[in-house]
Amino acid sequence: MKLAVLLLLALGAYASTSNGSAAAQAGARPHEPQAGAAGVGDPYYPELGNGGYDVSHYDLDLEVDMASGWLTGEATLQAVALQDLSSFNLDLYGLDVDSIDVDGTEVDFDHDVHEVTVDLEDHLHSGAPFQVVVRYEGVPELVPEPAMSVLPGVGWIHAQSGVYVLSECSGAASWFPCNDHPRDKATFSFTVKVKKPFVVASNGLPVGETDHGDSRTFRFEASDPMATYLATVNIAEFKTTELDGPAGIAMTLYHPTDATPQELKAFERQGEMIEYFSMLFGPYPFEACGGVISYENLPGALETQTLPVYGRGMPEVVVAHEVAHQWFGNCVSPGRWQDMWLNEGFASYAEWLWLEKNSGALALDNRARRTYAGLRRRRVGSTAEPGLGALFGANVYERGAYVLHLLRDEVGDEKFFELLTRWVETFHDATATTEDFLALSDKVCGEGTSEFLTPLLYDDILPVVPDYEG
Ligand SMILES: [Zn+2]
Repeated sequence: MKLAVLLLLALGAYASTSNGSAAAQAGARPHEPQAGAAGVGDPYYPELGNGGYDVSHYDLDLEVDMASGWLTGEATLQAVALQDLSSFNLDLYGLDVDSIDVDGTEVDFDHDVHEVTVDLEDHLHSGAPFQVVVRYEGVPELVPEPAMSVLPGVGWIHAQSGVYVLSECSGAASWFPCNDHPRDKATFSFTVKVKKPFVVASNGLPVGETDHGDSRTFRFEASDPMATYLATVNIAEFKTTELDGPAGIAMTLYHPTDATPQELKAFERQGEMIEYFSMLFGPYPFEACGGVISYENLPGALETQTLPVYGRGMPEVVVAHEVAHQWFGNCVSPGRWQDMWLNEGFASYAEWLWLEKNSGALALDNRARRTYAGLRRRRVGSTAEPGLGALFGANVYERGAYVLHLLRDEVGDEKFFELLTRWVETFHDATATTEDFLALSDKVCGEGTSEFLTPLLYDDILPVVPDYEG
């Protein structure tokens, strides 16, 4: 029942951003160009992302004055109109927009806190490719994040030692104009100029460095589609260490010059993790798997694509978690933010799998039993309908991992890992929802699997599981 209602709500929300119903709602003639919606209709974040177009590539050319924090940017977006457009929106928070060109012509725009509305004198036709160039500047501010109200915000963090970018969920707009929702993935190019001795670490592969005397320009290409919240630029006096890993995957770790051998040891087995998880989940999805260790103690780590960002002194298990996210969260991203458990439940279960590999089946069973007892005792809430305030709670992480473990108990290793592999294959470089997972589980593990999973994922409290009692 919950499932059906949810699906209808979601379909309704997305349909309202499409051309047909937008026109119908506005009472306009069907072929009259319409304003692109100011959000993609995510139930938890109605204003994130925008309707009416799809970005295929971001080319971000940035210069950062590390002393003042001033960012000067030129963002070139390659996009396609998904409807006849009279205007469209970009997400950009706080920075000043100097000018915007669409297909080489300067256009009028309006910037209201988080939304830039671009007016199109020459309307764009549905299906037409177009290029947007946005010139902007200012000192980036953190975007208030309703799912993590304990933090001052997310996005571009200018710390004592330098800049770190951790944008989940809504922080990408703090540093570049974008269609800020995982449903619009794109490839990225980064060109970042900073004074020496600062070093830049960004997603994808480094493709060049130019020395200007007292400053340097660093270039990176991320050639696999990426959600905006996973884009990152980190600027500090990093030292680099090349990690050992499988052939063909670049593995550069950027770290503080005074990082201890103990801190670096947590990354020693990253190559082994990639090999082990590739066996379980299918081939590693990207061209690189590096990492950034920040000088400051950031509040945790984020799985920024191909280059997770870590606080100092993170244990090996956190590295396993962020590496697993490259499959779950980055390659297959949440279709709506409420589907967060498809990221965090899976990455948390990968921690359990890493534990099982290193310490055996008994250690895994103990972990599952301890988790079950804790989830029941603390009356931890719904996994698949967490609510915005519990999007990063134990209901998503621990209960999500436990439900996957129970599913594995129920269907056996062969079907369980076939399901995970098929999941990544089916939704590769795209997004998926809990409903997609339930449907695929029926297909791979047999009819009735989704019925088994539904109360475990949706009930307000985890149902009693007799085998785990006592
Ligand atoms: Zn995670």
